[in-house]
Amino acid sequence: MFGFRRGSVRSRRDAPEASINTPVNWRRLFGYLRPYRGRMALAIGALTVASLLGLSFPLVIMQLLDSVLNQQDQRQLNLFAVALVGIFFLQATFTFFQSYNLNYVGERIILDLRTVLYRHLQTLSLDFYANRRIGEILSRLSSDVTQVRSLLTNNITTLLSSLLSLIGSVVIVFLLNSRLVGFVLVLALVIVGIAVGFGRYFQKFSTAVQDALADATVAAEEGLQGVRVVKSFAREEYEVGRYNAAMEQTLAAALRLALFRSAFGGLMAFLGFSAIAAILWYSGREVIEGRLEFATISGFLIYAIAIATSLGQLSGLYGQFRQALGSVQRVFEILHTHPTVADLPGAKELPTIEGAITFDAISFGYESNLAVIKQISLAIQPGEIVALVGPSGAGKSTLFNLIPRFYDPTAGRVLIDGFDVRTVTQQSLRAQIGLVPQETILFGGTIRENIAYGRLDASEAEIIAAAQAANAHDFILETPRGYETVVGERGVKLSGGQRQRLAIARAILKDPRILLLDEATSSLDSESEELVQEALNRLMQGRTSVIIAHRLSTVKIAHRIIVLDHGEIVEQGAHDELMARNGLYAHLYNLQFRASDNVRLAEVNI
Ligand code: ATP
Repeated sequence: MFGFRRGSVRSRRDAPEASINTPVNWRRLFGYLRPYRGRMALAIGALTVASLLGLSFPLVIMQLLDSVLNQQDQRQLNLFAVALVGIFFLQATFTFFQSYNLNYVGERIILDLRTVLYRHLQTLSLDFYANRRIGEILSRLSSDVTQVRSLLTNNITTLLSSLLSLIGSVVIVFLLNSRLVGFVLVLALVIVGIAVGFGRYFQKFSTAVQDALADATVAAEEGLQGVRVVKSFAREEYEVGRYNAAMEQTLAAALRLALFRSAFGGLMAFLGFSAIAAILWYSGREVIEGRLEFATISGFLIYAIAIATSLGQLSGLYGQFRQALGSVQRVFEILHTHPTVADLPGAKELPTIEGAITFDAISFGYESNLAVIKQISLAIQPGEIVALVGPSGAGKSTLFNLIPRFYDPTAGRVLIDGFDVRTVTQQSLRAQIGLVPQETILFGGTIRENIAYGRLDASEAEIIAAAQAANAHDFILETPRGYETVVGERGVKLSGGQRQRLAIARAILKDPRILLLDEATSSLDSESEELVQEALNRLMQGRTSVIIAHRLSTVKIAHRIIVLDHGEIVEQGAHDELMARNGLYAHLYNLQFRASDNVRLAEVNI
């Protein structure tokens, strides 16, 4: 209906593909088992006993049948029947220990791996996120991690139990009738050869499913996160179509996998059961020729089934292993990514600063050949309020992001009180910088927790003082549970102005020497605007403030306005000076600030 073609979703994705060639560090992978080696040993021990018991019961059945067919001994029959129940009981008990311990280890590994992965994700620099979709990362954190867990636990134990059962059955068949074992082994080798030949396709097909699923998750994540935009453009059906197109691709990939798996499973079952028929035929011949007891055939049959089942499991396992390998690579690709901005070895703590910021001939480009900031030199004094203005794409946000070292310049230095930001720890640098972003992000917690995000050890009185200074205290008290009211997705909804004031309270509580403020572009009603502006003025007092300005009131209180264009400073000075020059600033003022000011004036008049 929407004309989505195959690959339409993928083409929107600018994220690099999960590299299937990421080398798997086996030591590191199996390192996740190390803390639980005791439990794992217990599980493997229990599994070995359960498998050996499984191997013993056909022997008992043979004895049981022998007591009926040949000896017709009631007492022996009773004894063997009780022995069988005893064996099954013990087998069930050991299987319980094996299963519980295995799941215990599996769940712990999921926790460990997700924690390690999430911690690593938190250390990665912003450029990593600029190139990826969150949905794609989340799918690695959830479904791929589960696959890795299976590889480390269930797959290993299935491998062991199948091998034990296979080797044990072959050995017993050999002891009972050595001629038969050669026959069984030839059959086994043929089946294993076919299984291995097919196995490598599993990884290819299942990686395609995981990739398609990640694309669908991305589509859903975008459609849900941007639900306001979706609704405002009445594009619900379009989004459903986009998600559906991605899911269709997932379906196609999943069906290809299912087709392959079913054909493979069918072939394996056919080969396995044909092998049983062949064994029956062969052992029947042995009975006819008087080389084998009839009762032994039942034992052979059960061992033959055990051999076929083990072979089936082993071949399935090979497929699962190849499938899990794709997931391991997707997880390790993230773990092998190093943050582009990292503390230098021996980086020092930044001492308490005055707040001087110097850009020393800095250049920067997101792509190496495309300079976004060109040779900018600028000194900002402690306590100075600087407004950055310029047309869209001029490089304001980029320049701003170099101060807390979200990115490193490609040339030149950023100095804070004379310290090159690359020589100090990111933690100590960012601890002294307050950032108020354009869009206030509130976390799903109480209002108190959201303000305390600025300083986790703040006292109740400090939190309230910060809220008061941010003009937030009064509206907080009006919410159902005051400071304990839950906000965020599942909590009370706050207005744009209220959210901004919470963000300001957060920054006030942090009490940084340097304030970076990306002014919200969305206009508030004039009363809310005034409350926000008042709170901001309090926040800026006595701090070095760099503001990406969108309001006339801000540019007017700024000590200096820096006008950027195409990554260069083209003008700087106070509002009146720049207006008198009649250059880019005056042009922007007429276009942007005065227009927005008129809007606000109009609101007042209404
Ligand atoms: P606006 O006022 O529209 O926010 P700005 O002045 O803040 O614009 P920047 O966001 O600094 O401009 O962008 C400067 C240039 O860098 C633009 O050409 C933009 O396309 C490019 N750019 C910004 N972020 C990235 C990124 N993560 N990767 C690649 N290029 C980027």
